[in-house]
Amino acid sequence: MRQQTDELRALIRGVGLRATPSRIAVLSLLREAAQPMSHGEVAEHMADEVWDRATIYRNLIDMSDAGLLRRSDMGDHVWRFEATTGNHNSKEHPHFVCTECGTIECLPEIEFKLQARKRAPRALRKREIEVQVRGLCDNCY
Ligand SMILES: [Zn+2]
Ligand SMILES: [Zn+2]
Repeated sequence: MRQQTDELRALIRGVGLRATPSRIAVLSLLREAAQPMSHGEVAEHMADEVWDRATIYRNLIDMSDAGLLRRSDMGDHVWRFEATTGNHNSKEHPHFVCTECGTIECLPEIEFKLQARKRAPRALRKREIEVQVRGLCDNCY
């Protein structure tokens, strides 16, 4: 645990942010999460802690801007956050969204390959994109 905290602290400092206890806790939670989490879900998980929802939200935004987290809109206009380091696959990967229940799954085993193409939109060339696969999850199938 101690060693893990040191690693998280170094990661956060490495991107030029102060390693506050709330940032460490948010990053730790998201590195262990199997799916991207919304602000509400993160706040719920940390309900026993001293930090309010606004602090947690600022941490999510700050760490996204710094590249420690990736945020995606899965089509419901809710930002969901996931860590770009740790157990979670660090590369951008598609997300499977269930059209029935809204469950979201990471698909790190599928890689989105971009063929060289001059007229591709700038966001695509800069990899500022989200890849989504939609269908029924096993529970709804
Ligand atoms: Zn489903
Ligand atoms: Zn993911």
